[in-house]
Amino acid sequence: MKHRIVVLGAGYAGAYVAGNLARRLSPKDTEITVVNAVPDFVQRMRLHQLAAGRDIEAPKLADVFAGTGIRLRLARVTAVDPERQVVAVTDTDTDGVVGGELGYDTLVYALGSHGADHGVPGAAQHAFDVAARASALRLRERLDSLDRRGEGGSVVVVGDGLTGIEAATEIAEARPGLSVALIARGELGARLSAGARGHLRRACDRLGVTVLERTSVDAVEATRVRCADGTALASDATVWTAGFGVSPIAAAGGLEVTGNGQIVVDRTMRSVSHPNVYAIGDSAYAIGDNGRPLPMSCASAGYTGRQAIEAIVGRLTGRKIANTKLVYTYNHISLGRRDGILQTIDDEGQAKPKHQGGRQPARIKAGILKMALWATSHPTYGMPKRKHRLAAAPDAARREGAHVAASRGPRAQHRH
Ligand SMILES: Cc1cc2nc3c(=O)[nH]c(=O)nc-3n(C[C@H](O)[C@H](O)[C@H](O)COP(=O)(O)OP(=O)(O)OC[C@H]3O[C@@H](n4cnc5c(N)ncnc54)[C@H](O)[C@@H]3O)c2cc1C
Repeated sequence: MKHRIVVLGAGYAGAYVAGNLARRLSPKDTEITVVNAVPDFVQRMRLHQLAAGRDIEAPKLADVFAGTGIRLRLARVTAVDPERQVVAVTDTDTDGVVGGELGYDTLVYALGSHGADHGVPGAAQHAFDVAARASALRLRERLDSLDRRGEGGSVVVVGDGLTGIEAATEIAEARPGLSVALIARGELGARLSAGARGHLRRACDRLGVTVLERTSVDAVEATRVRCADGTALASDATVWTAGFGVSPIAAAGGLEVTGNGQIVVDRTMRSVSHPNVYAIGDSAYAIGDNGRPLPMSCASAGYTGRQAIEAIVGRLTGRKIANTKLVYTYNHISLGRRDGILQTIDDEGQAKPKHQGGRQPARIKAGILKMALWATSHPTYGMPKRKHRLAAAPDAARREGAHVAASRGPRAQHRH
């Protein structure tokens, strides 16, 4: 029987890892299945652009994986049972509800993250978000209808993390008829260096974004946002960027997770509780080379993915497992299409005094987005053509055994 590798999620992390495993492992003794809920690759890093009105490419996963030998199953993962080594799925490409269980020998868990309201009343009902394509498109429709009305309108972006900053500036630039406010719990761009904060403030002024600092939102209503200080802000479209969470599926399946549901992994991205399970990207709680949790980010999806590829190929083929880099060194932030900030990060995860602002970082960011799309939609490019056969006991990993105890670290920060 072939060794069954099942990859859950075909985002930046999952698509990349699946393709690379297909390139490196021989199909004579491995079979790789990717399960993804939607048929195309979603460029999450550009969803604020989609919401603002831009069209973004969404390559079909069937094309991405064509010729790689990977089986694509369009299905929603509903449960993981790591003791029985099965995943429960409901197919999404059929009219009737079809589903079942999918057995695996090695599981790669890459289900990413989603917007989370952290229980703020009304946020789930009334706010929009840019964390998933469907919700970004809903926001776009609302902005279109406000534009069509021709009387202006107010957009309130809650949260001044990097996603909130990018969303507010992008919408303000693309929709000059609307007034955009950005709500920051502390000082605007608190995680940036002083110079970068100054650049951000000037960009907000230029684009007409009203910044409300040291403001917490208590509740979201249909046409306004209520703040903790008792004030209310009129809002025709509230954009919630103040929280990101991960699916409860891993925790429900009994995998060792952090308080926010990320799977705790070792240096090789292997679950510390279930050795046949690897977690990568936003779903993984991985410690970087600086001893700190890697933030949820596309960069971390790449680094954790590369390390998981080395570990899976190494363990299955009996090769030495290389330690690949696990770092987070830059924030690339777009401020609309023509401005941006490049902020370097030190080993403590803090902004270095040095930053770059203006057109050049905007161009670099646009290049990064293109590269990320290209790398994900050509997942096997540049990898060695020679396929490795499995070591004598291909299911060695299954027997590897005893569940490993591990301590939980501090809660991960994330890029958003
Ligand atoms: C607007 C925005 C801007 C961003 N900008 C940046 C940036 O500039 N730089 C940066 O580094 N990061 C950025 N990020 C963060 C970055 O997009 C994520 O960290 C990255 O997408 C994580 O990759 P991933 O593969 O773990 O998850 P995802 O890319 O989210 O992929 C997860 C995949 O799993 C699928 N899936 C989820 N649940 C299920 C299920 N139950 N069943 C089946 N399939 C499922 C999804 O459809 C998706 O295909 C941004 C995020 C947003 C929302």
